[in-house]
Amino acid sequence: MDRDKILLTPGPLTTTLRTKLAMLKDWGSWDADFNAVTASLRQRLLAIIHGHDSHVLVPLQGSGTFSVEAAVATLVPRDGHVLVLDNGAYCKRAARLTTLMGRRCTVLSFDEAAQVDPAALAQALATDASITHVVLIHCETGAGVLNPLQAVADVCERHGRGLIVDAMSSFGAIEIDARKTRFDALIAASGKCLEGVPGMGFVFIRKAVLEACAGRSQSLAMDLHDQYVYMGKTTQWRFTPPTHVVVALHEALKQYEEEGGQPQRLARYTSNYRTLIAGMARLGFKPFLDPAIQAPIIVTFHAPADPKYDFKTFYAAARARGFLLYPGKLTQLETFRVGCIGAIGPFEMEQAVHAMALALQDMGIAASAVT
Ligand SMILES: *Cc1c(COP(=O)(O)O)cnc(C)c1O
Repeated sequence: MDRDKILLTPGPLTTTLRTKLAMLKDWGSWDADFNAVTASLRQRLLAIIHGHDSHVLVPLQGSGTFSVEAAVATLVPRDGHVLVLDNGAYCKRAARLTTLMGRRCTVLSFDEAAQVDPAALAQALATDASITHVVLIHCETGAGVLNPLQAVADVCERHGRGLIVDAMSSFGAIEIDARKTRFDALIAASGKCLEGVPGMGFVFIRKAVLEACAGRSQSLAMDLHDQYVYMGKTTQWRFTPPTHVVVALHEALKQYEEEGGQPQRLARYTSNYRTLIAGMARLGFKPFLDPAIQAPIIVTFHAPADPKYDFKTFYAAARARGFLLYPGKLTQLETFRVGCIGAIGPFEMEQAVHAMALALQDMGIAASAVT
């Protein structure tokens, strides 16, 4: 059958037909029509964080990680010192790319089942005056933890340090307001909660720090300051833009606005999350995280204790019913993940739970043997 499978993954994810149809056209990168779409996209993205006064929006070709790397390279001076707050796999990736770009990097580690602790950050900043920037992952997609952005931003502001936020899997669904929360850079991408297709990232950069960023990047392609200046002069992207991704994201943003913006996106994902948790509980599955720190974005479940369980078989059985699951990303425990985001609602989540129930049946695992 050629029906698309439902992606229960945190990007790429299921998109609407309207978003997919927006890609059935060719666009010239020099053409005024396309450059108007880019300009409109940048304005719409700034509006989501109420950032017109405080920030600029710089888009960048590539997957989300490209934009994280570009933000660190563009904002952090070569002799800067980055402190990464680490409670999971995406934090470790941010630390690794910082080190690879030759910036001094210190990691402050937390349990992957807990939020990062603003008090521990305050302590670290008080003891080490050489730290210039802090990196925070807003929603740690590894386990699904929502980290305390506002408290971390307040600590950074009080200590006069820059804050770089990877908001890849939270942006558009969890409220972020640049008028209330101070950050130097915040990064997200097309193929997550905005429900576009993957292929571009974007970075909000605080106007107050923008000018000092000139010449900091050691990379030509990843220099966000240069991208910003060029776009300002020409209305065009430096180097070939991902034209189809841009128009698809623009179409996805129109639907985002029609749906009611961030509050409604969060409401739908929360109802997906609740449907998932309730259904999985009926099957005996236990979530890994305390619900108090769980973002309604992606949920980590403990794998069934039954020796007959094997993720590849479970995945294939759910896939045969039209649903794509996501492997776990924890270092110590056998888990799997289910995304709550994308152009899906509670009805699809009910069906996903049903598909997983049948997958267990295929494997000969009784619901009572899950825990
Ligand atoms: C998805 C994601 C990224 C980017 O991953 P890519 O595979 O490069 O798109 C970065 N950080 C977080 C927290 C994410 O969820």
